[in-house]
Amino acid sequence: MSSNPKNSFDDSGVEAEQEQPQEQPQHREPTDAELALLEAIMPIHEDFTPAQIDAARKALVITDAADTDAIEVLKFNRVHKKGDLHIRRPEQFCAAVQGSGTFRLLNEYSTHDFANCKQCREAGVKSPDTVAKIRAYEREQESERQFVLANPCQWDWADLTPETMEEFKNVVNPERKKNGFLPVGCSLPAEIGKRPSLVAAINYVVRTKEPVDWLELGDLAKEAAEYADLWHKWNKKAKAASAGLEEVE
Ligand SMILES: [Zn+2]
Repeated sequence: MSSNPKNSFDDSGVEAEQEQPQEQPQHREPTDAELALLEAIMPIHEDFTPAQIDAARKALVITDAADTDAIEVLKFNRVHKKGDLHIRRPEQFCAAVQGSGTFRLLNEYSTHDFANCKQCREAGVKSPDTVAKIRAYEREQESERQFVLANPCQWDWADLTPETMEEFKNVVNPERKKNGFLPVGCSLPAEIGKRPSLVAAINYVVRTKEPVDWLELGDLAKEAAEYADLWHKWNKKAKAASAGLEEVE
């Protein structure tokens, strides 16, 4: 089979550029976490170099594996170490947390007597226990956020119309007495329209055409309400974050 290379178009000048050897590691923008750490180490700086960004990346891999917070470890170092041991450079911080395999700074931090250390208290250095609680909370939030992202809303909150209720009446089996089903389709009780989760449940039944009894309809409504809670909660957080507000609970 003859093939016609698709990249044979003439784009003069590009090839010469591509032939240059790569001597420097590829420049990339630091992630948010890397940038926060780099700026904590060097509040005054020019563009961070690839080596500095890489040092931050490596340090974060280690502190994350230890389930701790790199910036708290840095603050701890600065409270207690003076002179050469006071960390001022990203590479130095990376070397200190790694400690040639002894993880010296991390071990000092995790065994420090925070309860009785006035200096750490005054400097607001968070203890490993506090950090662990914050991280657990953040993980929980993240998994909720991921859940909302991975599960787009399947609930339809549109107001119930007479047509929807007519279809609903056709879908639910009036003969179905299991769990004490009460047919609600004949006339729409006013309060149903005011309960968004029940509205969503009825819309769901109409869409899927799966007959339900009263209890099952209640379960669907509960599920819709739980989803709505998560969605609103996460959306509020997203708005707070974009407004630069820190929400601490
Ligand atoms: Zn201390």
